[in-house]
Amino acid sequence: MSISIRKLHPVFVGEVQGVDCRRPLTQQEVAAIEAGMDEYAVLIFRDQNITDEEQIAFTRHFGELENYNTAGHIRKREDQRLGPGIADFSNLDKHGNIMSGEDRVWFFKLADRLWHSDSSFRPIPAKYSLLSGRTLPSWGGNTEFADMRAAYDALDERTRGEIEELVCKHSLIYSRHAIGFSKLTEDEVAAFRPVDQPLVRTHPTTGRRSLFLSSHAGAILGWTIPEARLFLRDLTEFATQPQFVYSHVWRLHDLVMWDNRATMHRARRFDRNEVRDVRRTTLAGDGLTAQ
Ligand code: MN
Repeated sequence: MSISIRKLHPVFVGEVQGVDCRRPLTQQEVAAIEAGMDEYAVLIFRDQNITDEEQIAFTRHFGELENYNTAGHIRKREDQRLGPGIADFSNLDKHGNIMSGEDRVWFFKLADRLWHSDSSFRPIPAKYSLLSGRTLPSWGGNTEFADMRAAYDALDERTRGEIEELVCKHSLIYSRHAIGFSKLTEDEVAAFRPVDQPLVRTHPTTGRRSLFLSSHAGAILGWTIPEARLFLRDLTEFATQPQFVYSHVWRLHDLVMWDNRATMHRARRFDRNEVRDVRRTTLAGDGLTAQ
């Protein structure tokens, strides 16, 4: 079966046909999907009823799994519901019960509803993320994506020149503070010390430039905090205008794959009394981004 991709949005996002994500891919199939990622930055695979092991195996066709000692969502190892290699983005605890709205893990998760790029708070930010919809709520819970290449291309010359050499500080703590969640332990503060990321990045295979924004960004080197925060907020507002945004309405067993080097995304509201079980595999990035 040959792979075809149908564009779902004027500037990015493709829906892939002709791939069974449970099976090993040929080199040609891997190359076709990578070319699709370079062009569309977000790919949707429908009707992929996969296990965790199958999702991990599919992901590994495209690189090495991201592997950090500190989880992004402060779920302690002994509290985890899933095995290694796959991250639990559900609202369930390790026993499979819906977590309390006052659970710290829930507070941490809520900040994913701010625009961000996965692991931008890591020294080496993520390449692709793959999210599988295993159980979905009856309402809401869309995932929205914004094309940071198209946003960069649409900037005026003056702004482009202004941001060219800027470097931002990213930390998970900045995005949690943004929703008023600031009760972090000393260990968490130490684990999420800010890292440097350039505000403009160049894609390693396409050479396209993009805005490297994220709600994890909380400072710009050489700028005062208030000016930096306002400028980052302005840029984010610009970059997430409707012409750059696709809102994914989940269907059961969708597998959505995005390039964190070219996009931002955010989760949307749903009724937290309903189960939303989505699971993510993540590929390590290519190296340090700031020179
Ligand atoms: Mn995310």
